[in-house]
Amino acid sequence: MGKIKWWYPLAAAVLLAVAALVQQSRSAETEAPAPPPVLIIDAGHGGADGGAVAADGTLESDINLDIALRLEALARFWGAETVMTRTGKDIAYPADADSIAQKKIADQHARVGLVNNTPGAVLLSIHQNNYPATAPHGIQVFYGAVPGSDALAEIAQVNLTEQLCPDNRRMASKVDTGVYLMKNAHCTAVLVECGFLSNPDDLGNLQSGGYRMKLAAVLLASYLQYIRGAAT
Ligand SMILES: [Zn+2]
Repeated sequence: MGKIKWWYPLAAAVLLAVAALVQQSRSAETEAPAPPPVLIIDAGHGGADGGAVAADGTLESDINLDIALRLEALARFWGAETVMTRTGKDIAYPADADSIAQKKIADQHARVGLVNNTPGAVLLSIHQNNYPATAPHGIQVFYGAVPGSDALAEIAQVNLTEQLCPDNRRMASKVDTGVYLMKNAHCTAVLVECGFLSNPDDLGNLQSGGYRMKLAAVLLASYLQYIRGAAT
């Protein structure tokens, strides 16, 4: 029968201490070089472009902005660095942009410039859906082509569905190539259609400040979940 020597526990404690130090230096080596990403929050439309319009006149651009501002506030509270593509209803257009079409193009170019000049960014673009019939409803997340976008979209789609619309059958999908900002952003990018302005239940939800706060909170949680996963 082997005898337990008096120094066994001491040796074990020393080994554990060394192992902890090695682990610490390893994680310091691997984690130090990667700065945390910058969350770019894009409130879709704005200024001369109201986006979709509900039957009661509610503008998509206003709902997008409110959710974006709530998300920004929550993200800053959490310590995440954020950049907004707009913070108000109005947009400062270049002097030579006369028509609404020219204004929209100038605005889209400005947003792409902002996104692509922000190193290590993650773009979260906020929109509302609209359809000629009232039946379609629910939240859907779309992703861009840059790797990581699909993973972030999957996380957000699952979280939004579970927390806000459990009967939702919509899946995270590749964004339509016609969406200029999403097509031209060179970073991880998702576009969230938070609901249908054409559906009375979705519209009622989106008109509630509490619901918009929940949307912002779930979007932030999804972003934090994504960057934690991407860093390991
Ligand atoms: Zn939109």
